Amino acid sequence: MTKNWIDELRTIVGPRNVITGSESLAWESDGLSLVRGMGQAIVLPLDTEETVLVMKLLAREGVPVVPRGAGTGLTGGATPVEGGVTVGTARMREIFSIDPVGRLAHVQAGVVNSDLSVAARPHGLFYAPDPSSQAACTLGGNVANNSGGPHCFMHGSTTRHVRGVKLVDAQGQVLDLLASPADPEGLDLVGLITGSEGMFGMVTEVQLNLEPLPEEVQTIIAVFPSLDAACDCVSEAIAAHIEASAIEILDKLTIAAVEDSIFAAGYPREAEALLLVEAEGGALEVQETIDLVLQLAKKHGAMEIRSAQDKAERARLWAGRKGAFGAMGRVAPDLYVADVVAPRTRLREIVALAIKIAEERNLRLGNVFHAGDGNLHPNIAYDRRDEDEVRRVLEAGQLIMEACIERGGSLTGEHGVGVEKMTHMCDLFDDDDLNTMHRVRDALDPKRRMNPTKVLPLRACREVRNGGLPFSPMGNLGAKT
Ligand SMILES: Cc1cc2nc3c(=O)[nH]c(=O)nc-3n(C[C@H](O)[C@H](O)[C@H](O)COP(=O)(O)OP(=O)(O)OC[C@H]3O[C@@H](n4cnc5c(N)ncnc54)[C@H](O)[C@@H]3O)c2cc1C
Repeated sequence: MTKNWIDELRTIVGPRNVITGSESLAWESDGLSLVRGMGQAIVLPLDTEETVLVMKLLAREGVPVVPRGAGTGLTGGATPVEGGVTVGTARMREIFSIDPVGRLAHVQAGVVNSDLSVAARPHGLFYAPDPSSQAACTLGGNVANNSGGPHCFMHGSTTRHVRGVKLVDAQGQVLDLLASPADPEGLDLVGLITGSEGMFGMVTEVQLNLEPLPEEVQTIIAVFPSLDAACDCVSEAIAAHIEASAIEILDKLTIAAVEDSIFAAGYPREAEALLLVEAEGGALEVQETIDLVLQLAKKHGAMEIRSAQDKAERARLWAGRKGAFGAMGRVAPDLYVADVVAPRTRLREIVALAIKIAEERNLRLGNVFHAGDGNLHPNIAYDRRDEDEVRRVLEAGQLIMEACIERGGSLTGEHGVGVEKMTHMCDLFDDDDLNTMHRVRDALDPKRRMNPTKVLPLRACREVRNGGLPFSPMGNLGAKT
C-alpha cells in the first residue's frame, strides 16, 4: 500500500506526534475562541532537523502551515482558518544554555516563558518580558507576536531582547541567525522575523538577552475613587518621566472578578480603580520613584496606598493582575480581549469611550491594562452561544479600535494582528504600505503557505472599506462590513 503524506509525517516525528481527527479539537482555536478552524493534522517535531523534514514534505504537497506555540494568542494567529497542518513546538522544550557572563540564553522555541527566568535565577539573571500568560506561553510565540508584559514598560517588549533566531522557512530551508556578532553587518533579519506572526517560517531556536536581578524592588497599590483619576495619575506620571518598571490599572469589575477567584490578591473591593506600580533598581532610585508615585497618587485623590511588605505579598499582588483575564471567566464563559494603544496623554478619554461603547450595547466590559505603555485591554465578557451578543461584542471591538486609531493610537500593543485585526490594517496603512509588506512576505514565502489569511489583507483597502467580505474570517462573524 502506498503511504499518504500524513503517514510520511508519522514516519518523521513518530506516530504519537501527529494528531488527527477528534483529538485535534483542542487545536481548533487559540484564545480568540470566536474564530475556529480545522486542519488536516497537527504535527509536533522535536527539533530543527525534524522541522526541516516536515516543512519539506509540506512544501512538496503544497499544504498551508500554521505555526503554533501554546495557543494562548488572542487574535486567532495560531488558528488554522485555511486548514492545512499546524506545526506545534510543544516538544521543543530544551534550554540549551545559559551564559551568565554574556547574559544570553539559547533555547528551543517551545520553552515556556516563565521557565527561562526560573532557570536563569541561580545565575542572578532573569528574562524581562513577562506576558501575563507567561506560565503557559512559549518563547517562540512571544517572538512571533513581539509580546509585551507589565515590566516591558521599563525593559521594552520582546524585540528588545531577541539576539538571534533559527528559522525553518516554508520550503524547509534553515535561516540560521544565531550566534551572530553583536552588531552584524547587513539587514536586521532578526528584527524582521520578530513580530512576523508566523508568516516567514517556523522559529525553532531563539537566543535571548537576560537581565541581572534588581538589587531592590518595591511594589505598591494605590486605590482610586474613579477610573478617570487613576488614568490622569498615570498620564501625569509619564509627563514627569517616571522610572517605574511597571504601571498597571485594574477597574472595579476586574477587581471583583479577581477577588472572587483563586487569584484573590487582597485588592480592596470598594476601589473604582487600582494602580499597581513597581519600581526596581538601586535602593535610592527605587525610593525616589515610589515617592513620586505616592505624591501623584495623593494629588489625584487616592483613598489608600499600600506597599507590599514582603516577596510573598508582592507575588500575590502580581498573581491577581496576571490572573485577571482568567478570573473574568467568573463573569461569563467567553472573553473578548481588545489590545489597542492610546496616546498616554489621552488615556482617560479613550478608556471612557470604550466603556460608553460597551454600555450602549449592553455589554459587560472590564479594564485591566498596561497603563504606563498606553496599551489598553478593554475586555468584554460574553457568551458565544448568544449570536446577538457576539455581534454586539464584535461591533464594540471594532469601534474601540477605530476610536484609538482616530485619536493617534495604534491597532495592537502586543497581541499582534492575527485574524482579528487583519482588515483593520487598512485603517493604519495604505495599499502602497501593504503591498510593500506583501513583497517582503513573498520574498520569504512566495506561495504564501505560511499562516495564510493572517495579518495582511488580501484585497485592496478600497474593497476592504466597501465591505470587504469574505476575506476575513472575523468578517463572516459580523465585524467590519
Ligand atoms: C490570560 C492571557 C494573558 C495574556 N497576557 C499577555 C500579555 O501580558 N502580553 C502579551 O503580549 N500577550 C499576552 N497574551 C497573549 C499571548 O499569550 C501572547 O501573544 C503569546 O506570545 C502567545 O504565545 P503562544 O506560545 O501561546 O503562541 P500561539 O498563540 O501558539 O501563537 C501566536 C502566534 O505566533 C505564531 N507562532 C507561535 N510559535 C511560533 C514559532 N515557533 N514560529 C513561528 N511562529 C510561531 C503563531 O502562528 C501565531 O501567529 C495573553 C494571553 C492570555 C490567554
